[in-house]
Amino acid sequence: MTATAPREEQLWSRCAGCASLLYRKRLRRNLDVCPECGEHARLSAPERLRQLVDPGSLGLMPDQLPETDPIDFVDVLPYPHRLSAARASTGLSEAVVCATATVGGHPAVLAVMDFRFLGGSLGCAVGELITRAAERALDDRVPLILITASGGARMQEGALSLMQMATVSQAIAALREAGLLTVSVLTDPTYGGVAASFATNTDLVLAESGARMGFAGPRVIRQVTGRALPEGFQSADVLLRHGQVDMVVQRRSLRGRLAALLAATRAARPTRPPVPRQEPVPRRERLADAAPAATPGGGDTPAVRDAWDTVRLARHPGRPTTLDYLDSVFDGFLELHGDRLGGDCPAVVGGVARLADRHVMVIGHQKGHTTAELVARNFGMASPAGHRKALRLMRLAARLGLPVITLVDTPGADPGVSAEEQGQAAAIAENILTLTVLPTPVLAVITGEGGSGGALALAVADRVLMLENAVYSVISPEGCAAILWPDRSAAPQAARALRLTAPDLCRLGVVDEVVPEPSTAAHDDPAETAHRLRAALLNNLLPLLDVPPAMLVRLRRQRFRRFGMARAGARAGAR
Ligand SMILES: [Zn+2]
Repeated sequence: MTATAPREEQLWSRCAGCASLLYRKRLRRNLDVCPECGEHARLSAPERLRQLVDPGSLGLMPDQLPETDPIDFVDVLPYPHRLSAARASTGLSEAVVCATATVGGHPAVLAVMDFRFLGGSLGCAVGELITRAAERALDDRVPLILITASGGARMQEGALSLMQMATVSQAIAALREAGLLTVSVLTDPTYGGVAASFATNTDLVLAESGARMGFAGPRVIRQVTGRALPEGFQSADVLLRHGQVDMVVQRRSLRGRLAALLAATRAARPTRPPVPRQEPVPRRERLADAAPAATPGGGDTPAVRDAWDTVRLARHPGRPTTLDYLDSVFDGFLELHGDRLGGDCPAVVGGVARLADRHVMVIGHQKGHTTAELVARNFGMASPAGHRKALRLMRLAARLGLPVITLVDTPGADPGVSAEEQGQAAAIAENILTLTVLPTPVLAVITGEGGSGGALALAVADRVLMLENAVYSVISPEGCAAILWPDRSAAPQAARALRLTAPDLCRLGVVDEVVPEPSTAAHDDPAETAHRLRAALLNNLLPLLDVPPAMLVRLRRQRFRRFGMARAGARAGAR
């Protein structure tokens, strides 16, 4: 709904659906749903809470956190300026409002996102606030309700924003383990990293009428496929038809429907005492953790390479692939195929192998060296079937007591029409959640491109290694440039601003160790690269084998829990 003219702003609104001119008060009485055509206008978080919770029951949770600019991000405007403008225009401190309340008499914790605040983007503060809301629900033994509205991860916070997908997912996993209900309500729009984590890995997923949800946005999909999108693509009704949501709910029924769901699940709620929750890792420890673990270049401090040059090396067609490493680093690889639901994705390979006579489960993205290979492997972009195959193999590994080693090399998850229809967002979300609590050692290596949620779907691990010339990023430099700069030719600047290189990510604590490449790059000496990778894998894996599974999971939770608060502590050095 947009105002017609400044003078009439308070009195009249024009419906974005049917263009009817509507009396503002009448519209508000109708919960901002057009009485003529049924269009559901976007709501602010405070208005959403007013509509959903019982009068007098609202208890807002604290939302003040330290200032946020973990990677000193500047596009045409410095990030702090954009934050200040969002605060001034919304009156909110961040893109989410969290509260305790009752809904139809049933206590719950609610986290409500506000799209007006930087597109509802998921940054460190938003991740921290939602995680605290989930922890509050765990402490109070009440359900968690997430109302999502977001364009995705906040690129101005680089890979740290990506980590929030894991941080919030592991908090949801804790509620799952405790037998507490989690519900997400998708409102328009819900995309990217939010769709591929807590919007879809909850017990129940409701969609408000007219909401659109997907991993990739329609513009990106049109660009990639060069075709018009099917009627109603990514809309609530189509999501329901494709099995992606439990129900589509009109706004006027939402409160009653939530109350009924809370009532139905209340009887089954366990009464055993709460599990003591993880305390946040103290600041000093976080700083120590974020210190560089290794100097790239094997001893000599190398000349610092421009981030854009590193991006080009990471994408070099000669760069060793997962199948190359399975041949050179591992022995006796037995490939296992299929997601058992109807597909086998060629962009993900996995199976059992030996690493120095220890049995392991290896799962990785597969690209290729020639155009034909790349096309056959969909350029290493996994479909939902690929993510579900990986999930099946991870769970199998945990059951068999095998450690999991993942090799990450993808420009991102498949952004195609059928990938969306088959639930790409939910497939990624389930992998992330499962990895946060998988009771076996998990070691991830970013070997080439670590592209956004598709990379994270294989990279939530006890130890994260990164080859010296690999990159790991919340968005591609080209995609970032297209959004924040005048055009895509600013990709090299975006690459620098995103802090996507191995040394930067080590400083931020996202990566634990850099695996040095031979003097020029991996593709110039694949045998030496394999030799170094094997040594690094063994160094990192062997200590994990002695840690009991429950302890591993506890430590992995601490590792990802700290990213919520890491932004103020661990800063990438300015270049
Ligand atoms: Zn209308």
